Amino acid sequence: MLHHERLRPPSRDYPADEWNVIEKAFHPEFLAQLETMLAFGNGYLGMRGGPEEGGPNAENGTFINGFYETRPIIYGEEAYGFARTGQTICNVTDSKIIKLFVDDEPFWLPNAALLSYDRRLNMKAGTLDREILWETPAGKRVSITSRRLVSFVNRHVAAISYRVTLLNAQAFVVISSEVATNEPSTRSKEDDPRLARAFSGRVLHPRTSYSKDQRIVLCHSTEKSGFTLTCATDNALESSCPHSYKVTHTADFGQVAFTVEAQPGCPIQLTKYMVYHSSQTAPAEELCGRAEWTMDRVVTQGFRQLLASQEQYMDDFWRRSDVRVKDIREDRTKRSTVEIQQAIRFNLFHILQASARAEETGVPAKGLTGQAYEGHYFWDTEIYLLPFLTYTSPRIARNLLAFRHKMLPQARARAQELGHRGAMFPWRTISGEEASAYYAAGTAQYHINADIMYALRKYVQATGDESFLRDYGAEMLVETARLWADLGFYSDAKGGKFCINGVTGPDEYNAVVNNNAYTNLMARENLRYATQVVEFLRKTEPDAYNALVHKTALEPSEVNAWLRAAENMYVPYDEKLKIIPQDDNFLDREPWDFRNTPRDRYPLLLFYHPLNIYRKRVIKQADVVLAMFLLGDVFPPEIKKRNFDFYDPLTTGDSSLSSCVEAIIAAQIGDMEKAFRYGMAALLMDLADVGGNVKDGCHIASMGGTWMMLTYGFGGMRDNDGTLSFWPRRAPEDNATLRFPVTYRGHMLEVEIGLEKVEYTLREGERLVIRHETEEIHLTRQQPAAIRPVSKR
Ligand code: BGC
Repeated sequence: MLHHERLRPPSRDYPADEWNVIEKAFHPEFLAQLETMLAFGNGYLGMRGGPEEGGPNAENGTFINGFYETRPIIYGEEAYGFARTGQTICNVTDSKIIKLFVDDEPFWLPNAALLSYDRRLNMKAGTLDREILWETPAGKRVSITSRRLVSFVNRHVAAISYRVTLLNAQAFVVISSEVATNEPSTRSKEDDPRLARAFSGRVLHPRTSYSKDQRIVLCHSTEKSGFTLTCATDNALESSCPHSYKVTHTADFGQVAFTVEAQPGCPIQLTKYMVYHSSQTAPAEELCGRAEWTMDRVVTQGFRQLLASQEQYMDDFWRRSDVRVKDIREDRTKRSTVEIQQAIRFNLFHILQASARAEETGVPAKGLTGQAYEGHYFWDTEIYLLPFLTYTSPRIARNLLAFRHKMLPQARARAQELGHRGAMFPWRTISGEEASAYYAAGTAQYHINADIMYALRKYVQATGDESFLRDYGAEMLVETARLWADLGFYSDAKGGKFCINGVTGPDEYNAVVNNNAYTNLMARENLRYATQVVEFLRKTEPDAYNALVHKTALEPSEVNAWLRAAENMYVPYDEKLKIIPQDDNFLDREPWDFRNTPRDRYPLLLFYHPLNIYRKRVIKQADVVLAMFLLGDVFPPEIKKRNFDFYDPLTTGDSSLSSCVEAIIAAQIGDMEKAFRYGMAALLMDLADVGGNVKDGCHIASMGGTWMMLTYGFGGMRDNDGTLSFWPRRAPEDNATLRFPVTYRGHMLEVEIGLEKVEYTLREGERLVIRHETEEIHLTRQQPAAIRPVSKR
């Protein structure tokens, strides 16, 4: 059930558009939300969407993925094995500031007389565009247009094209292009555990700063984590109006101030280039040099070239990833087809921004749109994002899985610290070390091991990338299977079955439980896959097998033990209710009093002590229901239905990771009404601020979940058994069309689900075999397939 629904109504000032998110008036009360929604990034560099003038900001932010500062985690009471070191992504140098003064009048949005205002996230071009007509107190009309981008092609680069034209008078114009580090935080004090810990004092310490012509370079280091960052800006002003400039800089600040004698109708065009290099990708002493090379190159190429490459990148992205809808019934969704299309693209666009150039890093829970969750990587990446990436941008999926492999040494050390064999991936981290200070809802989520291996299997199946499996995947499989074999035990009390006690499943409202069904089911999958891959290598690739044995000291007896554990895995089942209880004690818990829980007391985690929650039968996010989606072929439809009907009313959806999953299972069991309700909540999570916290950053996992909801849920896509099949779901009275591409084993397939037929077209690749329900379909480029639903034949 959706226990709280805060769908903001559409508004005149935010008109729907298929390709743009548009803001038609400046509303200071939505500053924070828009900073998030209009944030720009490429997975390496991210900038919140504040105005060019450097303010007003709710919580300004510029982030480099994986650039963090550490701090000791202070516990009131210590215990063995608690995570020791907190990691928080830094708010780094803000380079995008361009202040404007006309006859000394500052242009400042809150008090400017705006004759027109239009700001839009242009998802087709990958730019943030703004057009303003300002009337100064002296009645001078000024046109200000700007276009901002964070380049996908050049990951270290961002740029702004900024144009000012006096329309009806001449004036003295000053354009101050600035760069600032260690700006005081504008964040209001809030007691929300999901937000980032604020550091007291400065985080970035000056190393060098200098200027050359209109170029300013600031270099800073963190104190404890020892990272270094160089930010360079350069400026090019073009105008036939007379102009001059002055440059100043300090350790934390730089300014190039252009003074222009502006004539009416004579444009003043400033192009600002911004480059970031950090010590994660280059030695600290080389950073300034690298920033300069990059800068020289982009300045020579110019903004036009950056824009052209951005547009080309976006075209390619949409070709591989765009999900299109038509003729959606508004009475059902309460939103027009255009609004739904906009929301779909908005979600996909933000996933791209969060992940495109995440190389040797993960994807933070909020992408690079905010500091909440401290820039940490969770299971969100593997379970919610990787399916989309695997089926649209497999290269990015590979990078992210390779990044997990890079974490293996720390994961092995962590397992050892906790007294386990194998490897234990951190619940939340940037560096690879566990950074979760609350073990009950952190370290105890062992399921992350199986989640990563689940994503690996999907990736390998969908891409056929066996070299990745051999060179990286197999080692992770051995170490994770080892962990499960060590963690569980054969319990007499459970008829000698293999049990896993003392863990937390995805649902964080039931912590440190025995036999969490999700965990056991996913661990079983992990153990089976590890067995299968090791056996495959032993039989077919002896060299790779020997290398694996060498790397992991694998004993042949271990593999038998994994298989035995998998085949004897205990999965809770309640005979009376005929459902899978979430864990051993779930059904014993006192029901939560939903009736007397006011709407404003959600999310419960902000209003009730964890103990009050843990002892009750209440769920934060899909758990058994998630397992039914991920391991879909294990559960027949009637079991899915029974479990969904049982768990749905208990699920608060206090985590944004829930609605998309509920929508998928609702669609699979034919409850289209709920599928639409949950689907809309997931789809509009960020665009309509469903969770009420979009100000802190986008919900990247939910965004990935919306793609799963459209493809797996409504499109009925299935891939568990190694063949791609489709069992489209629709309400009988529905006219809607759903169209999406999937990249599968190097082929690009387009699926179009309409009222009269389902069409499968091979857009790239020579031939592909898929299934429509149980029917096998052989596709070639010349031969698409159109299938009429059974009811229409
Ligand atoms: C959810 C987790 C999720 C985390 C980061 C929490 O609220 O319960 O499942 O990993 O947010 O998105």
